[in-house]
Amino acid sequence: MTTYNFTCPHCGETYEIKKYNMGFMDAYEMRCDSCPTTIMVDFYLPPMDELYSRGLNAIEKALKPCECGGRFQYSAPHRCISCNDKIKLNEIAKQIKWPRKPKPGFGPSVALGKIVQSSKIEAWKDISETLNEGDGTGMKAILEKLRRAFRA
Ligand SMILES: [Zn+2]
Ligand SMILES: [Zn+2]
Repeated sequence: MTTYNFTCPHCGETYEIKKYNMGFMDAYEMRCDSCPTTIMVDFYLPPMDELYSRGLNAIEKALKPCECGGRFQYSAPHRCISCNDKIKLNEIAKQIKWPRKPKPGFGPSVALGKIVQSSKIEAWKDISETLNEGDGTGMKAILEKLRRAFRA
């Protein structure tokens, strides 16, 4: 994990953000849709081992809400830890001098706020019912792409 100084384009506050390499993390990042919190969803730990083939939507549904009350979602934007305004990945990439074209899920993988781990059992709802939902597509392909991108 590397830290960089980041200045919010909305409120002008400067603070440290963390960049990590998803290939080494063996985890999948999702963000809260209401605050700057990121959750790391471990690939190989339950219930991800069961949810894996059931699609992104099934994973989102199986996660308990963030402690702020928001929902963890793959597509949720980054948020400033000072003003909570949405921050574009392009803006972050520019400030940390990311050498490639930024793309959600492919990098840069950064956390502006707190990082929580899905390995904590409290992160998951009782998923027996959520396992029956979701279309079962998409997640596997996305994970495979992620792995290829970071391990190639
Ligand atoms: Zn939140
Ligand atoms: Zn701000």
